Amino acid sequence: MNTKSNPLSKYFRKPAIYVQIPTGGRFNPEIDKTILDEIPIMPMTAIDEISMQNPDELLNGEALINVIKSCIPTIPEPRNLCNIDADLLFLAIKYATYGKTVTHLHTCTECKEQAEYNIDINNVLDKFPEIHEVDPVEHEDLKIFITPPRMESMTRLALIDVEQQRILQSVQKVAESEINEIELAKQFAISFRKVSKQNIDLLINSIDRVETPDEVITDEDAIIEFMNNVPATVIATINERVLLVSKKPKDLTTFEFVCEACEHKDKVNFELNPVNFS
Ligand SMILES: [Zn+2]
Repeated sequence: MNTKSNPLSKYFRKPAIYVQIPTGGRFNPEIDKTILDEIPIMPMTAIDEISMQNPDELLNGEALINVIKSCIPTIPEPRNLCNIDADLLFLAIKYATYGKTVTHLHTCTECKEQAEYNIDINNVLDKFPEIHEVDPVEHEDLKIFITPPRMESMTRLALIDVEQQRILQSVQKVAESEINEIELAKQFAISFRKVSKQNIDLLINSIDRVETPDEVITDEDAIIEFMNNVPATVIATINERVLLVSKKPKDLTTFEFVCEACEHKDKVNFELNPVNFS
C-alpha cells in the first residue's frame, strides 16, 4: 500500500535522533551533503529486530546493511560506509530504538557484588573522533589516496575471525581425539594464510585511487598488482596512513564502574559490536 494513501501513515515511525558521522561524509560523495549535519535516525521495526537476532544474517553482514537501509534511508549505499561511521550509526539506531540508556550488569572484581549500571549512549557518541582526510602517499610521480576501512571489508574480517574460532575449537576437539599432528598443523596453516591475506585485502581496500601525472586509477585488479610489486617501504607508509584514518580512541567504550559495596573501581570495555545489540 502506498504510504501516502494510508490514513495511518502519520503514525509511522519518525526520526528519533539526528547525528553527525566521524568522517563527515568526506569519503562518501554519494551521501547528500544537505543531511550531513543532521542525519535522521529512525527506530528499528519489529522485522529489523528479528533480523538483528538471526546469527546467519548477522554473520554475513546482511542484517547490518538492511537495518541501516531501514533506519537511515538517507544513506544510499550502506556497504560503502566507513567502518567508524557505521559504528556510530549502530549506536544511534540503538538509541533511537531503546532510548539513551543501556543498563549493564556488572560484577565487582573485588567483592563479587553485582549491580546494574546505566550507560548514557550520548557520552559514547560524543567521544567519537573526527576523521579527516590524510595526505596521499607519494611514490616517484604517483599519488596514492587513502580512505578509512569500509564496512564491507570489516564484515569480511569479522567472518574470518569467526572461522578462526571454529578452527581453534575443532583443533581443541581434535587434540582430545585421534587425529595426527600433521593434520592439525595443516589446519593452522590454512587459517593463518587466510588471515594474512585478509590483512593485505584490507590495505588494498583502503586505497581509494592512484594518480599518475596523466590518469587516475581506480581499477581494483590494477591496484592489487601494483601493491604486489612496489617496494615494502611504500606498503609500510600506506599502512601508517591507513592507521591515521582508522584510529578509534581506546577509551571510546571503556567505562568505570564504582562498586557500591566496597567502592572498588573497575574499568570495563565494551565492544561496539552490533552483535551484542539488544
Ligand atoms: Zn565491590
